[in-house]
Amino acid sequence: IQYKLVDVEQVCMEILPIVENEALLYGVEVVVEKENPLPLIMGDSELLKQVFLNIAKNGIEAIGGKGTLTVRFFHMGSHVEITIHDTGPGIPPYLADKIFEPFFTSKENGTGLGLPVCQKIIHDMGGSIRVSSKGYGTIFHILLPSC
Ligand code: ADP
Ligand code: MG
Repeated sequence: IQYKLVDVEQVCMEILPIVENEALLYGVEVVVEKENPLPLIMGDSELLKQVFLNIAKNGIEAIGGKGTLTVRFFHMGSHVEITIHDTGPGIPPYLADKIFEPFFTSKENGTGLGLPVCQKIIHDMGGSIRVSSKGYGTIFHILLPSC
């Protein structure tokens, strides 16, 4: 893959209408917050859109009704951090690694391939992805090295 300079916030904004459309079906509110200004990263914008869409859709499906999906951007030293926080039921600690394994799904029509693909895309860009669940809800944290 030929990586290019990418503005992750811009990429997220380009995919946001699709996420909002999905959210509307469930009554989920989508909030985007950012810390100014964000450095660029080296990556592939189409693959990043796939990551945002996958994780946001999982969050909306997990909420499954009224709730909030919050996307935040941070400049963390040499990295850009993107967090995607949903107000769904959360993920128990013993499943935190399992969900990244191919074919792990709790959905009747799930493929269990969304997160492994997201993880591969982020790793290929030199980044990392992890999940945390505090109190209730789930937060996906994506770290990407900045330029
Ligand atoms: P799929 O969406 O096809 O099930 P994924 O790889 O995208 O596959 O997700 C795997 C599983 O991880 C889901 O089936 C679900 O059990 C769990 N999961 C992912 N995101 C969330 C979330 N935001 N809240 C709760 N569970 C989640
Ligand atoms: Mg999925």
